[in-house]
Amino acid sequence: MDIEKYIREIPDFPKTGVNFKDITPLLAHAEATAFCLEQLAALTESQQIDKVVGIESRGFLFGTLLAKELKAGFVPVRKGGKLPHHTLKQPYALEYGMDALEIHEDAIKKGDKVLLHDDILATGGTARAACQLIEKLGGEIVQCNFLIELEFLKGASKLKSYDVRSLLCY
Ligand code: 5GP
Repeated sequence: MDIEKYIREIPDFPKTGVNFKDITPLLAHAEATAFCLEQLAALTESQQIDKVVGIESRGFLFGTLLAKELKAGFVPVRKGGKLPHHTLKQPYALEYGMDALEIHEDAIKKGDKVLLHDDILATGGTARAACQLIEKLGGEIVQCNFLIELEFLKGASKLKSYDVRSLLCY
């Protein structure tokens, strides 16, 4: 199935110069969503996954579906101040300024086999911060997978020590 035709490009969103990849047409298409889910799940082959970690907010969409498919738990990584219980915080650099991601301290147990998922790998700063949180809690990152990788932004170079996979590369 050609899933690229379900990815809509929005020029200059959210700011001038950014060509935003909008995955909502894909989500609205049941067969395309089912196809992507099957392909993403197949990327981990027969490896055991205890937790799928999804990054706010679009990483929650396929992240929860993947967790069910892989019979794993789902763990959200959120922007600062959103999670209600005790959290671990990881600051990371944006193009201009800083942001932070948080995870619940008790969401991952030492030795858990973890799959990190997000919709898009762009510069890689977000995914790297999420990986740091997972590892600080003692999780073992089996793979980082993405629907889309914007290869020209070289995000995979920030995730060199991990198995990085994507369904679509631009
Ligand atoms: P990075 O930290 O790799 O530069 O940015 C990745 C994060 O930004 C992901 O959480 C992703 O959801 C979001 N993102 C960046 N560019 C796009 C885009 O073109 N489309 C979508 N849907 N998300 C994007």
